[in-house]
Amino acid sequence: SKHSGRSTFSWYTAEMDADAQRRKEIEEGLAKALRLDQFEVLFQPQYALRDNRLTGYEALIRWEHPVKGKIPPDLFIPVAEDCGLIEDIGDWVLNHACQEAAKWDDQTLKVAVNVSAAQFKAGVTERKVAQALRTSGLKPERLEIEITESLLIANTEAVVETLKAIRNMGVAIAMDDFGTGYSSLSYLSRFPFDKIKIDKAFIQNLGHDPSTDAIVTSIIGLGRSLDVLITAEGVETENQVTLLRAAGCHLVQGYFFGKPDSVRAHEQNRARKEAD
Ligand code: C2E
Ligand code: CA
Ligand code: CA
Ligand code: CA
Repeated sequence: SKHSGRSTFSWYTAEMDADAQRRKEIEEGLAKALRLDQFEVLFQPQYALRDNRLTGYEALIRWEHPVKGKIPPDLFIPVAEDCGLIEDIGDWVLNHACQEAAKWDDQTLKVAVNVSAAQFKAGVTERKVAQALRTSGLKPERLEIEITESLLIANTEAVVETLKAIRNMGVAIAMDDFGTGYSSLSYLSRFPFDKIKIDKAFIQNLGHDPSTDAIVTSIIGLGRSLDVLITAEGVETENQVTLLRAAGCHLVQGYFFGKPDSVRAHEQNRARKEAD
């Protein structure tokens, strides 16, 4: 429809107001959600390609809103980061994930927890990790922290020191969403990562675009020569698995292998498949 300049302006204003209103609602709901126990953690399996063995799970938060239903993390995590609530929510996820993993039947499985740049606090995060391990009794070797490049853009000495301190406890550090930032390669030489997760945007183009194939193959080669494990995330098809296996990728995660769910549900699925 046609708008005069003025009505176009007010239309945009209304749009922005609606957005601001939605954020405000989410913000108010988030504080309550923590108190009322509306968050949940689901787990998505990760497999080693070499022997098709389950190696662990990534913990992914879910918000079950009493009125609005399930609210995806991409909608509320950015709001939580802006209003500062990400610290409390992050603490809750870290502790909850460690406590669950400490109770799993298979005590060799790892648990990966996302820590966003906004929640990461030099000097503080290492104490929180240590405390979560102590309270849960989880062995440090079973915990992995997923960070993104945005944390390293500032590249302060304090951030690097905190990451090293966490790593010295025996906890692994993974670089998430690799390839989507600006100067990924320089971070690799400045910090000793244990794992790199290739962003799902690349994996989803595998086999359809020669330059994507070349980029993924190079990242895997880079990981192999730096002695860093490579995880492909967002793996949805058999063809992607075949290409990743041929390229020498270590680990895979994606809907092809399993969606985020309770660990009990994953175990029942596997038992059913073995019985087939
Ligand atoms: P992420 O860390 O990159 O997590 C991977 C996302 O990809 C998850 O979305 C997962 O469900 C989805 N995914 C996995 N396999 C596939 C696939 O084969 N195809 C497609 N299309 N998607 C797949 P989810 O759970 O909605 O989380 C979105 C983002 O929210 C996460 O991206 C992460 O940045 C953030 N997030 C989730 N949980 C937490 C948390 O506990 N703490 C923090 N700080 N951030 C979190
Ligand atoms: Ca992640
Ligand atoms: Ca990711
Ligand atoms: Ca992401």
